Amino acid sequence: MHLEEMKKEIHNLVLLKGFYNRPEDIPKKLLFAFIELGEASDAWKKGKAEEKIAEELIDTIFYILDTSRLACPTIDMDEMFKKKLDKNLNRAFRYGEGHRKT
Ligand SMILES: [Mg+2]
Repeated sequence: MHLEEMKKEIHNLVLLKGFYNRPEDIPKKLLFAFIELGEASDAWKKGKAEEKIAEELIDTIFYILDTSRLACPTIDMDEMFKKKLDKNLNRAFRYGEGHRKT
């Protein structure tokens, strides 16, 4: 399944379950993405099963894609993924870590 397909599935889920669905809800969705990251971190720190960690990471992706649906609805996230990957691949070795000694 690609990101754009996932966005559609998440949109269906949001409508079906009556979750927040307005542009004003974007900050809440971003906060929830951070919370899910915290849950993933906590699961990892506590030595939980990989499936639990993966589940929390997927929750994070849900909120990120849900946010993208409302915050940048004209952007094709599959195309954006490729565009950003190319951009990062063309950057210098260990870009953004200039402070780090090898
Ligand atoms: Mg969760």
